[in-house]
Amino acid sequence: MHRPFALVIVLLQLPAFIYPQAPPSPKKHFDGKTWWEHVKVVADDRMEGRETGSEGLRKAEAYVVEQLTKTGIQPAGTDGFYQPVKFISRQIVEKECSIALIRNGAVEPLRLGDDAFFNTRVDLADQEINASLVFAGYGLKIPEKNYDDLAGLDWKGKIAVILTGFPAEIPTSLAAHYQWAGERWRVFREAGAIGIITIPNPASMDLPWSRSALNRTHPQMDLADPEFNELAGQKVALTFNPASAEKLLAGSGHTFQELANLAKDQQPLPRFPLTVFLKSRAHVDKQEVTSANVIAELPGSDPVLKNQFIVLSAHIDHLGIGEPIDGDRIYNGAMDNGSGVALLLDMAASLQREKLRRSILFVFVVAEEKGLLGSKYFAARPTVDAKSLVADFNVDMFLPIVPLTVLKVKGLAESDLGDQATLAAKPFNVRVVPDFQPLRNSFIRSDQYNFVRHGIPALNMEISFDPGSPEQKIFKDWLTNHYHAPSDDVSQTIQLSSAALYEEIMRNLLISVANADARPQWKKDSFFRRYVP
Ligand SMILES: [Zn+2]
Repeated sequence: MHRPFALVIVLLQLPAFIYPQAPPSPKKHFDGKTWWEHVKVVADDRMEGRETGSEGLRKAEAYVVEQLTKTGIQPAGTDGFYQPVKFISRQIVEKECSIALIRNGAVEPLRLGDDAFFNTRVDLADQEINASLVFAGYGLKIPEKNYDDLAGLDWKGKIAVILTGFPAEIPTSLAAHYQWAGERWRVFREAGAIGIITIPNPASMDLPWSRSALNRTHPQMDLADPEFNELAGQKVALTFNPASAEKLLAGSGHTFQELANLAKDQQPLPRFPLTVFLKSRAHVDKQEVTSANVIAELPGSDPVLKNQFIVLSAHIDHLGIGEPIDGDRIYNGAMDNGSGVALLLDMAASLQREKLRRSILFVFVVAEEKGLLGSKYFAARPTVDAKSLVADFNVDMFLPIVPLTVLKVKGLAESDLGDQATLAAKPFNVRVVPDFQPLRNSFIRSDQYNFVRHGIPALNMEISFDPGSPEQKIFKDWLTNHYHAPSDDVSQTIQLSSAALYEEIMRNLLISVANADARPQWKKDSFFRRYVP
């Protein structure tokens, strides 16, 4: 899964759909063993953490192509199974960078890594910046709800300081959409701002600050074609340590503690100019990088419906080689997302033996960890007719670390794919629940969102837990210790039966959607309907 600038977790109690009676045990197609064999190869040290553009990723993709070829499935890239994608890679050179606050004319230097770090997903300006700062609350403008954190303040030449999250009055899907970095920047750019400083909510983050800051000098990327650059014009992008945030607030009449307390409970936040100025300089090394998506097609059997494609997507890239943790530098990404790659390979082999009315497209996307870039490219330039894509099921870090009894479905209420998912899980006595951690913003944090933005109904399912259960702690500990760490490798304890059951449900779901008379539809009241061309 992709880690955005900052993340917050809040748990809400929501009623679950309960199916008390287990129907007769359905046929099993997976045992977890083939899945685990694929994970072991893809997450092997030899693949060097599969960084986009790296030799390790090239090897992992070659393995995927070899396995797909064995199943007899058809290539559907532009170059055999491959769809080459060009990127610009940006790496911060911290020894040529500086940040400081100016308070009453005096310079207070800040320490990169301890107080804040530059975000090179943005094409940072290579010039000295001197700008005043304005606290913009959650930094959201949501016309549908008449909500505007920018209203009544002057943004010309200013840098916005925002605290992540959103007020409780805003529905989750709307809030997720407007927190998309490109959407957020569009609003501030139009108001005249030149940058954004993001403060993560200290109450609960996926990663502790020290781990977020650890790989801050690792290269970030964007698609090379400028038509994809949604962050153009942003000169400054900093993530600020919440533990240092009082430095920004001092003299403003507010404290960071007061703001964090409000944000923790999704209360409205005040907005006001800060009394300090930012003085900063960033230096970035840039490089061209080429990598590729890998795409395969299982043609449908119905003369008409075979022209409709159901996408099964999973990102194949991970973080590569980075700063060591406990002496290990290779970020293997076994669960993130060797697990999804392995599922696609298992599914291609299994569905190859079925007769499905619609066609299935298996899409292994690259550069997810760089900001969902491979899927962004594919969704904009699909290798089949764009109008023929009717659904996306994205598999990213589905986490078979506990027995599968609860399945969390992101996008559950947005389209009839959610109803199909509930039905697909029912024979296995698995409860389907909506995303109950809205502040984690999961729906926009993996590749399904690029399909959603092109009007294609999409779902992402992951193994989950009942709030308050012992399993909750297992997930929390996994995020703290293994998520985006070198220890997300094949020495973890994984529940193969849980992975196999997840695969069965996914298989059920794919078959029912592929064979249904009607193509998937957004719900009438879904916010995301607006993207249907
Ligand atoms: Zn990830």
